[in-house]
Amino acid sequence: MTISPAPGIGHLARPPYNDTMSTQTRLSAPARDALLAPQARPPKLSVVIPLYNEEESIPDLRAGLLSALESFDIPFEVIIVDDGSRDGSFALLRAWAQADPRLTVIRLRRNFGQTAAFSAGFDQARGEVVVTMDADLQNDPRDIPLLLAKIDEGYDIVSGWRKDRQDRFWDRRLPSMIANRLISNVTEVRLHDYGCSLKAYRRDLLQHVRLYGELHRFIPALASQVGGTVAEVPVNHHARQFGKSKYGISRAIRVALDLITVWFLGGYATRPIHVFGTIGLASASAGLLAGIYLTFLKFALGQNIGGRPLLLLAVLLVVIGVQLITMGLLGEMIIRTYHESQQKPIYFVREIVSAAPEAHAST
Ligand code: UDP
Ligand code: MG
Repeated sequence: MTISPAPGIGHLARPPYNDTMSTQTRLSAPARDALLAPQARPPKLSVVIPLYNEEESIPDLRAGLLSALESFDIPFEVIIVDDGSRDGSFALLRAWAQADPRLTVIRLRRNFGQTAAFSAGFDQARGEVVVTMDADLQNDPRDIPLLLAKIDEGYDIVSGWRKDRQDRFWDRRLPSMIANRLISNVTEVRLHDYGCSLKAYRRDLLQHVRLYGELHRFIPALASQVGGTVAEVPVNHHARQFGKSKYGISRAIRVALDLITVWFLGGYATRPIHVFGTIGLASASAGLLAGIYLTFLKFALGQNIGGRPLLLLAVLLVVIGVQLITMGLLGEMIIRTYHESQQKPIYFVREIVSAAPEAHAST
């Protein structure tokens, strides 16, 4: 027996949840739930965990996670995404999944990275609230109620803050301090810690957040760009017990580049001409002014300008300016194709209030 999607989030449903909707007999929700096996009911909470080569951590993860989740007394599911592990992780996960219907293991075909793993988990999650955490025992599942309490207060995203972070200073905490400051200023989502995986999201918001590259660190910023509210709570953090971190210091460069993407998408994705055009106009104007000055020198004062570096600069500035404006125009065309070919609106509706019965949120 399959489940029909909860009212209001029907557009979220993906196969296999919506493929039998047409043949489903119409039962009231309580009657239908009573017929379903307990594990088939949509859980309230989905815990999504990306995992890559963490075989030593799995037994402790299983014990710690289940003892915490069972003590909260809410229906839950665990989704572990095996991101192409090459050690014994998958065998352990498969054995666990076969013994416990609350666990779903998604095995990716190769190592696609943590962002893709999160994305795969989100696509599978059915809970109203999705909590993410790491598989390496650095996050503490006993902190989940702190996050859920904030969600109950009405926030759409609650981010963990590793106030007492147990990682080395020079290559991990220091770069991350700088990155956190930068991200906070650029995205205007004021958090202390963007890198903490322990986060909670309302799933109806998450569906509007499309993830690419390594943008999982920016989910709060991306979610706030579509209108989500963000809160932060201090959480526990433990040193890595087994294995090594999957990231090195080169991550700093990628984070800096991703920050540019997020800044651009947040502020200018629907008006690229404003960012390219502004710089382009400034550059072209400066070039033109220099050109006019040189023309004046040549024709009014009869000076020789052929050997002046300013001439080169003037030409360069005008050419760059024109190119930037053209890029902005191309950007304007691309965003029209993006939105119109996929019927993507440029806004996100939180809710629609109307006495008319047919009004419903379509985005
Ligand atoms: N991870 C993953 N795919 C990757 C890299 C990491 O699924 O390509 C998982 C990893 O197994 C862990 C989490 O993402 O559960 C965080 O990784 P890690 O602990 O290496 O990052 P750090 O805590 O050092 O930031
Ligand atoms: Mg870790």
